[in-house]
Amino acid sequence: MAKSNKSAFGISDQSKEFLKNYMNTASPIGLEYNGQKVWLNYIKKYVDTTFTDPYGTAVGVINPDQAFKVVIEAHADEISWFVNYINPEGLIYLKRNGGVDHQIAPSQRVIIHGRKGPVKAVFGWPAIHTRHGNDDKENQPKVENLFLDCGARNKKEVEDLGVHVGAVATYTEGFDEMAYDNLVGRAFDNRIGGFMIAEVARLLKENKKSLPYSLYVVNAVQEEIGLRGAEMIARRIKPDVAIITDVTHDSTTPMINKNKEGECKCGNGPALTFGPAVHNKLLALIEETAVKNKIPYQLSAVSRSTGTDTDSFAYANDGCPSALISIPLRYMHTTVEMINKADVENTIKLMYESLLALTPKTNLSYF
Ligand SMILES: [Zn+2]
Repeated sequence: MAKSNKSAFGISDQSKEFLKNYMNTASPIGLEYNGQKVWLNYIKKYVDTTFTDPYGTAVGVINPDQAFKVVIEAHADEISWFVNYINPEGLIYLKRNGGVDHQIAPSQRVIIHGRKGPVKAVFGWPAIHTRHGNDDKENQPKVENLFLDCGARNKKEVEDLGVHVGAVATYTEGFDEMAYDNLVGRAFDNRIGGFMIAEVARLLKENKKSLPYSLYVVNAVQEEIGLRGAEMIARRIKPDVAIITDVTHDSTTPMINKNKEGECKCGNGPALTFGPAVHNKLLALIEETAVKNKIPYQLSAVSRSTGTDTDSFAYANDGCPSALISIPLRYMHTTVEMINKADVENTIKLMYESLLALTPKTNLSYF
């Protein structure tokens, strides 16, 4: 049975339209601007001012020009492929742009973003009938043997379509809804984060909340290749506190080792991460906020860094108390990433209530 979603923190019809549109707009790493335009257009109604940086990170500011600065952040970029080599027969070989998964590529459809506009292509793969040998000897997909077929039959025909070395290809799989309040799509990592921080801004505005600090709602570029957009914008803003949201693995699906990955499940609420980059007092404030507001949550641990933009905010300047609120997700970096609506709602609520609990006087000192 599907639950009806009456909570203010849930996905309204209007916000669902935005989410769908945002998810279906290609935002490849390094070329995130089309997605950023959709995001800025939605968020501008709920913030006092917006700005962008040279590499395309987009920011909405609530209550600007205060001495104390707080960031909530997600990343905007989508993993994708680069055209690397066009062979004489018109087949296109690739390089990764981020951690795109070779195992799931065969028979997927893509759009190549060429100089003359979008070009449709598919990942070709030899038919089961023509793959000789027993199962153990079958070719496995890897970057060297994966190729795109755009219908052209020689290199010139490819180039005539505007496709060039360095053009980026993104998958076409889009947003969809499934039974039991689940959502599916490509690159919920981390467009669901961009959606959730925008919803936090909307709720602050609609509920007429005034904050005793400047809030920067940051949708950063280039996370997937090393947390780079966050590094740039952290230096520009120099925040006093940063709360980051990203996705984390649901470890309850097959072939995942919980001994190694820990236990995390879609539907059980946002995950709070312990690790050296996460500021313990800020994390404690968030955890207390969850308990006080009866928001379900899960715990996770990382060794060394979090592997998210949290690390950039913590370390880019002279030490910014940072914390990570992750939403559980199934099948990360495939085209069928799956999340649960209740987790979206609870992650929005936890960020929102944590921002209301925080003031410039909040004592984050360890001593
Ligand atoms: Zn990712």
